[in-house]
Amino acid sequence: MNGMSILECEPFKRFGGVKCCVSMRQKSAPLEFSMALHTGQERVSVLSNRRVLEEFFPEKASFVSARQVHGDSVLSIDEKVDIGWESISDAPVADALISNVPYLVLTVLSADCLPILLYEPVVGAIGAVHAGWRGSDMDIVGKSVEMMKREYGASPEDMMALIGPGIGGCCYEVGEDVAARFEGYEGALRRVGESFRLDLKRVNLLNLVRAGVGSSKIHISPHCSSCERELFFSYRAQKGCAGRFMSCIMLNPDDS
Ligand SMILES: [Zn+2]
Repeated sequence: MNGMSILECEPFKRFGGVKCCVSMRQKSAPLEFSMALHTGQERVSVLSNRRVLEEFFPEKASFVSARQVHGDSVLSIDEKVDIGWESISDAPVADALISNVPYLVLTVLSADCLPILLYEPVVGAIGAVHAGWRGSDMDIVGKSVEMMKREYGASPEDMMALIGPGIGGCCYEVGEDVAARFEGYEGALRRVGESFRLDLKRVNLLNLVRAGVGSSKIHISPHCSSCERELFFSYRAQKGCAGRFMSCIMLNPDDS
């Protein structure tokens, strides 16, 4: 494995108490380092890629991967278990996972949709959110913040967020029907000829601010999966690829 294929989340790393990363696309790896078990690719290769990702975390870590359905359900994981990791048969249906359990790695799979990682260092709580246009429209990230508040006593003021690599406003073309849903988001839409460009990172930034997270604590990845399709999978730019990259977050008491 080339060391470049896993990207560390610098803003969280500097803060401590947490470990997080994003797997990148890697031409030389099996299935170009895809982490998805649900897209019909060879399971053995996906599992071997997941083994490589596991090495980024302590040996005692457990991993949760949900079946994402572009919904708005947020699932709280309250024990250190492996779910949806070796097989999709036990993967829970959810587009956001939250937890306060140490050494439990929450994951999101994406290839244009946004991965959003949440970290509340005072009570020790994390979240991993999958937000495409549907999830963004349903404010899944705001619902996740709300549920971290309710379940763990997390405070939005103390929360940090990372909006990860995904399709940017430069490339994300949507029709009038989708655009109409985002008219209330200032600066998120741009008309280009007959269609629109939608900036989902901006939409989720505004959703996070509305949920009470300080804008100075929201970090936005500059990477566009479509512009940088060599580095990330892009469902649109690759015309329906099976590959997905994975964003991961884990509470790490060894580093606080
Ligand atoms: Zn782009």
